[in-house]
Amino acid sequence: MLAAPLAVEIGAGAVADLGALLADRRISTQGHVAVALGPGYGDRIAATIEPRIENAEIVRVEGGSLDSALELADRLRQRFFDAVVGIGGGGTLDVAKHAASLVGLPMVAVATNLSHDGIASPVSSLSHGKRKASYGVQMPVAVVVDLDFVKLSPPGMRRSGIGDALSNLSAIDDWYLAERERGEPVDGLAVTLARTGAEAVLRNDGTIDDEEFLVSLAEALVLSGLAMATAGSSRPCSGSDHEILHAIDHLFPDTAHHGELAAVGAVFASHLHGASRRLAELDRCLARHGLPRTHRDLGLSDEQFAQAVEYAPRTRPGRYTILEHLDLGSDEIRRHVEAYADALDS
Ligand SMILES: [Zn+2]
Repeated sequence: MLAAPLAVEIGAGAVADLGALLADRRISTQGHVAVALGPGYGDRIAATIEPRIENAEIVRVEGGSLDSALELADRLRQRFFDAVVGIGGGGTLDVAKHAASLVGLPMVAVATNLSHDGIASPVSSLSHGKRKASYGVQMPVAVVVDLDFVKLSPPGMRRSGIGDALSNLSAIDDWYLAERERGEPVDGLAVTLARTGAEAVLRNDGTIDDEEFLVSLAEALVLSGLAMATAGSSRPCSGSDHEILHAIDHLFPDTAHHGELAAVGAVFASHLHGASRRLAELDRCLARHGLPRTHRDLGLSDEQFAQAVEYAPRTRPGRYTILEHLDLGSDEIRRHVEAYADALDS
């Protein structure tokens, strides 16, 4: 069984139409919902919601921490609610998802940016002190993307979502490699969902400023979430690309947005897989959107990136990808790092 949302709505004015969606889908006929709002467009969203959903209780949440999720869960226990609506970016949605799971309420995810594939996923990534941990949570019952807000989000955030979607392609290569080498079962439906979204973004020649492209990107990120729900793990959307990404985050924090790192990880992974046609396609697509193609575009030296590649397998123990398969030594890694970057720079 696939735990899919009851409703997926991608379009302009989605926040304003939220009351109707809740009623039509029988999530809440009278609007007795808790609405968790993040810091970003919180005031503006509250002004839209308050007159339209009379019984809603607006709760402000700060950032994506475990503490704010626990605080929100406490608020949810104080009154009767039909559902929790999280409106905002990844951090706010992750807080609302985790809190809703803790108290057993259905959760509606309303995304105001497209920076990564956590919109429709059954995973909450929350910080606790200096550490970040992933929690399995219920799938949202409805997923809404408001393109009005997405268009207001910084270009870097919209580009980031592109990189996260495209990295599905190298993650799938890694999964099939694990099947061949280790007998790990591949879920065909999860692969279909993850790849369809990524291919649509790869082949769409629009830009992050046009609505048709943003719809395709939003669909790809929703499909990625469904793929992870189907697989029961992040496998279809996270391979050696994301191991490298997590290693960069660990060794060189705040280098770039999640999806910008995923993009470079996917390019390097495609190089290691010897997928030359894929690499050329990725390169063209990333260049067209002004995304980093190599670590040099991220401001990392060859030495630093080689360090991250060497560290990468430690970020996901047990996951078998091209990195674990090749098990390269430091000198070989350094040679590959220079080779792929020189080839793309020439
Ligand atoms: Zn990701």
